[in-house]
Amino acid sequence: MNVLKAEGLSKVYGSMGKLTYTALENLNLSVNKGEFVGVMGPSGSGKTTLLNLLSTVDKPTSGSILINGKEPGKLNNKQLALFRRRELGFIFQDFNLLDTLTIKENILLPLVLEGVSIKEMNTRVAHFAKFLGIEKMLDKRTYEVSGGQRQRAAIARAMIHDPAILLADELTGNLDSKAAKDVMDSLQQLNEEQQATILMVTHDPFAASYCERIIFIKDGRLFTEIRRGDNRQTFFQQILDVLSVLGGNFNDVSPVRV
Ligand code: ADP
Ligand code: MG
Repeated sequence: MNVLKAEGLSKVYGSMGKLTYTALENLNLSVNKGEFVGVMGPSGSGKTTLLNLLSTVDKPTSGSILINGKEPGKLNNKQLALFRRRELGFIFQDFNLLDTLTIKENILLPLVLEGVSIKEMNTRVAHFAKFLGIEKMLDKRTYEVSGGQRQRAAIARAMIHDPAILLADELTGNLDSKAAKDVMDSLQQLNEEQQATILMVTHDPFAASYCERIIFIKDGRLFTEIRRGDNRQTFFQQILDVLSVLGGNFNDVSPVRV
């Protein structure tokens, strides 16, 4: 079953003045339910633009987007806010957790807005906390837990309302290699055992090697697409090979980890 379908997606910035810039050009992308897809490309290739369009933060200049059978482009602002809240889950590089709340409160935030009962909330939090190995952290504040634990809390928050698709932007960008591995293992487990559908933008070949399929973009166009076989190690090497052919630089994310 198809969860996301983008057709002929283009984004031209600054169309009012003379200086226009085509950040995305005629991109097609289709993601099926339960797929784990990566998006890679050099700095300035259009990754963030693509994610902004798919997450309905920005509107395409042309082309169409269909998510879970709905066209966000045809919704009014109120419908769009609901659409975003119900159909999408977000994971960011800098976690985006609220420091004044406990980990548990952060995780159940999306349910509060939906008026879910306390009993149901507790059941769902317990489920995801166990799944992500953060049961012992639930009553702590965000600054009392590690970066990896924060990101796993953010994943729980993104999943708790059972979104149609999880959109992640450089989710390992602020983590050391051990924490990055833990987070990617968790994400893979969610994908395999809960059939979570994931679209992840990353510049990190290690994180990308967890995907089933990676699309590479260059200058706003599809460059190539590769699929993982049985072996993640082999896939990792394939990713490095494509990146070396792709050229450009990849320093749009501050490398905390070398
Ligand atoms: P990436 O995330 O792959 O580094 P972006 O999607 O951020 O790439 O940017 C793609 C291109 O579009 C870049 O050349 C960038 O300078 C340009 N761009 C991004 N946002 C804007 C904007 N708001 N106005 C004008 N140009 C932009
Ligand atoms: Mg970017």
